[in-house]
Amino acid sequence: MSQDDNPTDLVDIGVNLTSHRFDRDRSDVLARAREAGIGHCVIIGTTLDGSREAASMCREYAGEFPGMLSATAGIHPHNASTYNPGIGTELRALIAETKAVAVGETGLDFNRDFSPREAQQRAFEAQLALAAELEMPLLLHERDAHQRQIEILREYRDQLPGAVIHCFTGDRRSLYNYLDLDLYVGVTGWLCDERRGGELREAVADIPPDRLLVETDAPYLLPRTLTPRPADRRNEPAFLGEVLNALVRYTGRSRDAIARATAENARRLFKIGA
Ligand SMILES: [Zn+2]
Repeated sequence: MSQDDNPTDLVDIGVNLTSHRFDRDRSDVLARAREAGIGHCVIIGTTLDGSREAASMCREYAGEFPGMLSATAGIHPHNASTYNPGIGTELRALIAETKAVAVGETGLDFNRDFSPREAQQRAFEAQLALAAELEMPLLLHERDAHQRQIEILREYRDQLPGAVIHCFTGDRRSLYNYLDLDLYVGVTGWLCDERRGGELREAVADIPPDRLLVETDAPYLLPRTLTPRPADRRNEPAFLGEVLNALVRYTGRSRDAIARATAENARRLFKIGA
């Protein structure tokens, strides 16, 4: 059998499938993803309840879409003010019980500051400690907090099996800081945005093939290059190919090489199907 008979399934490492914007047609969204060659989606947890919901969606759709879904469990920096030791205990229990594939989404967001910075750092460090204790990878978020995020990560890095900086939107310098910590780098449709993706487009070819991951961050970040564009501007995993098209353009690598490498990387980092 030639390789063409067995095309690589893509892995979308960042889908906010619990979003109410998918309530009306979640199963159709997954069917379209499968048809578009997406073999696996990682559902992102951003609150304790949201992480519970993500885990229960994996169970709910396991019959219809076997092996296609996994979930992370964590508290997003926007929700960091809700974090306390009790939540930490519940998060630990949830991860053990549901076999979450990563701790997160966690990190620092000094762009919107929806939670006070002190609270964000506390919640971030607690989740880093939890990932170290459970020997689990992390799904990391960062916006306008690069310096502090790197400082905190450095203290924990040796104890962590691996991590991805998801939806990376920074410049070359911050990219190299993350690569120095041997992190994976998640690229979204931000790359397709001619208004604000400039720095990322210049840096993206520097991400080594074995560190690159792809994600839609659906329902957010609809690729601006997508045609036709859905009227409701909702992004979904089936549109992941548009991120690949942009990667082909800005890295000069072949689509097939990117597809294979990113899928392998995702399965290695999150131990999907292991
Ligand atoms: Zn994020």
